[in-house]
Amino acid sequence: MKTIAALEPLTTRLLEIQRINSAASVLSWDQETYMPAGGGQARAEQIAVLQGLAHQKLVSSEIESLLSQWVDPETGQAIDQPGDLWDEPSRSLLREVWRDFSRAKKLPSDFVIALSRECSLAQQVWVEAKKKNSFAMFLPNLRTVLSFKREEAQYLGYTDSPYNALLDGYEPGATIATLEPVFAQLKARLVPLLKRITQSRVHIDDGFLRRSYAHTSQLEFGRLVLTAMGYDFERGRLDLSAHPFTTSFHPTDVRVTTYVHEHDLPSCLFSCIHEGGHGLYDQGLDQQYYGTPLGDSVSLGIHESQSRLWENCVGRSRTFWRFFYPILQQTFHDQLGNVSAEGFYTAVNCVKPSLIRVEADELTYNLHIMLRFEIEQDLIEGKTRPEDLPEIWNRKMEEYLGIVPPTDTEGVLQDVHWSFGAFGYFPTYTLGNLYSVQFFEQAMKEIPHLEDQIATGQLTSLRRWLGQKIHRWGRMFTPEHLSRRITGSPVDPEPFLAYAEKKYGEIYQL
Ligand code: ZN
Repeated sequence: MKTIAALEPLTTRLLEIQRINSAASVLSWDQETYMPAGGGQARAEQIAVLQGLAHQKLVSSEIESLLSQWVDPETGQAIDQPGDLWDEPSRSLLREVWRDFSRAKKLPSDFVIALSRECSLAQQVWVEAKKKNSFAMFLPNLRTVLSFKREEAQYLGYTDSPYNALLDGYEPGATIATLEPVFAQLKARLVPLLKRITQSRVHIDDGFLRRSYAHTSQLEFGRLVLTAMGYDFERGRLDLSAHPFTTSFHPTDVRVTTYVHEHDLPSCLFSCIHEGGHGLYDQGLDQQYYGTPLGDSVSLGIHESQSRLWENCVGRSRTFWRFFYPILQQTFHDQLGNVSAEGFYTAVNCVKPSLIRVEADELTYNLHIMLRFEIEQDLIEGKTRPEDLPEIWNRKMEEYLGIVPPTDTEGVLQDVHWSFGAFGYFPTYTLGNLYSVQFFEQAMKEIPHLEDQIATGQLTSLRRWLGQKIHRWGRMFTPEHLSRRITGSPVDPEPFLAYAEKKYGEIYQL
């Protein structure tokens, strides 16, 4: 049987590409954390050079000729020689390298450069337009980016809809046909559930979360929870940035960031737990495969499942706070001294239709995504004109969440994604929510006394389980295959819906 060792000339080149990409990631991380504002232009050019170099190396004739010995260009599958078969890791590695290579190869390099330039330009205009609440200012750039992305879909090829070509870049295997029934099922149950919650007579007091909480103590508590989760500070850091994120240069160097708002306790707390979930995934990738797809995370949806599992299934549970609330109360005695654990639990699970996606509770969050999924699909298919966006946005907000943004800044201009061409990204957030509940329920079945462990602050066996089931495999299996291996089923909205109906039914006495 042939092993990965036989692929050595290929893996050596992949390692070099990965190192270039990792260097670019260091520059991006620095840009978001410590770089002085004046460095922006120069930094964008430095990153662009590295990314261009990595792309060039990936689509090089050397990689192409190596791959053509081992992979059937029609099917992307490894070619076995008579009497000599590839082992499973090699097969997966070849399949995934072929996928990356053929996607990259389909795009002409001047197109890639022009797209990257237009996106970086549009993103800068978007920042201004959002500040000034001027959709009209952003519209010409949005039109350009959109036409580039439609062209990209043509280059990549697709079945049914050009949107599928873009979606596949973020969540391999996902299509409109697989997602539509998922969203339809969510909509059918979440919209009425939300209506019942807003009509419920239960009033949750979460005002105490907006008291004054000292910056350093918030960060300290975030660190404490990250450490309990098993986030390894010998192989990671926690820093501050305008928007929390996670990035990785190697499993031995994974960075998470958070933000601290004096009058908003949950923002630092839950962003630490959320990014910590992402960070554990990246620290859990198999080092021996660094540089190859087997040392890379499998999809955005699965990555988000890790952050959401820790943030929501663990971090917003009563069980978790049984151990951590007394510590939090001790840290913020003046602010929380008279708040009960139950009062804290309901406050951090308060459901309120709101305008801004990133601030949404775990229930209304998916409605924000659904609206974006529908809109971006119509944009890419040419069914919606970009100039009609604000009106369509507001109409759907009214329909799904019962509120209408007073400004475009709080409406159609709120997210950065479309400005840099990330059409097809949003659905992965909801996939992450759904997977998170599926995985967590499986963990509850497989780890003896998991609930008791969480209630006593012991979180490491959960991290180990996630490492064994998900992190260590990288891209060995497709997202769907991985989900089937772990839970016996592909992505399924039912566990999430049952969890939501039970949890919120109880909190709001429905
Ligand atoms: Zn995330």
